[in-house]
Amino acid sequence: MRSEPLTALVSIHDVMPETRTRVTAMLARLKLPAQAVTLLVVPGKDWQAEDLDWLRALQEAGHPLAGHGWSHRCQPPMTLYHRLHSALLSRDVAEHLSFSGDGIQRLVWDCYRWFIRNGLTPSPLYVPPAWALGALTPAQLAGLPFRYVETLSGVHDTHKHTFTRLPLAGFEADTAFRAWTLRFFNAINISQSRRSGTPIRIGLHPDDFELRLAGEITPLIKAVTKAVAYPQVLTNVKVDPGSLSLLSTTTLISFKYPKKTRQKGG
Ligand SMILES: [Zn+2]
Repeated sequence: MRSEPLTALVSIHDVMPETRTRVTAMLARLKLPAQAVTLLVVPGKDWQAEDLDWLRALQEAGHPLAGHGWSHRCQPPMTLYHRLHSALLSRDVAEHLSFSGDGIQRLVWDCYRWFIRNGLTPSPLYVPPAWALGALTPAQLAGLPFRYVETLSGVHDTHKHTFTRLPLAGFEADTAFRAWTLRFFNAINISQSRRSGTPIRIGLHPDDFELRLAGEITPLIKAVTKAVAYPQVLTNVKVDPGSLSLLSTTTLISFKYPKKTRQKGG
């Protein structure tokens, strides 16, 4: 590993009753401060009282709890785009792609209200399953209850109507092809993060320590010089209203949405 500083935003996806044991084991292995590991919670699962107690304890320990879809499962029928997305990237978890903009808004609000109903405080972050946002207009995006909405390429600020590009590293490699492509893109993104000083998002899934890139997770975590929470990075970004060139080499820059365009995540 090279010695340049590396700032990271670490998250664990798919926190649900059925992944409780694996998430607990993963947290123990990561050994990071709780405030720096955001947990992406799937509300529409069979949450029992003791599962909710576990989640409350994690929140009290300092973990931000972010919204992560509702059921984490797609509904039929699927569009051609959705079918391709499933085959290449998301399998059958990109549930936003099953809905229109109105349906996505309802789903995200249901997700938000679940936290409140269960005495939990959602963090300002929402991450659609497989980072696939679906077809939301800027107005619909602005009407979501979460301030920050993460996609494959970065994070929307629904208050400021801006988008900030952030590199991403993922490890959900259950096939040789996925391992190869993830390793390739991770190397590019980690190197970009080191060069530019832009924080890298490290998106982990509960099974990652059993999959093909397991051996690459701990060395990367050890190379992180500063692990931060999402709002820490996103509330202070400089907004460049005119530019679509996105990032300078030293400063994190967001851009204002161009007028009257659809925001498509993914
Ligand atoms: Zn997920």
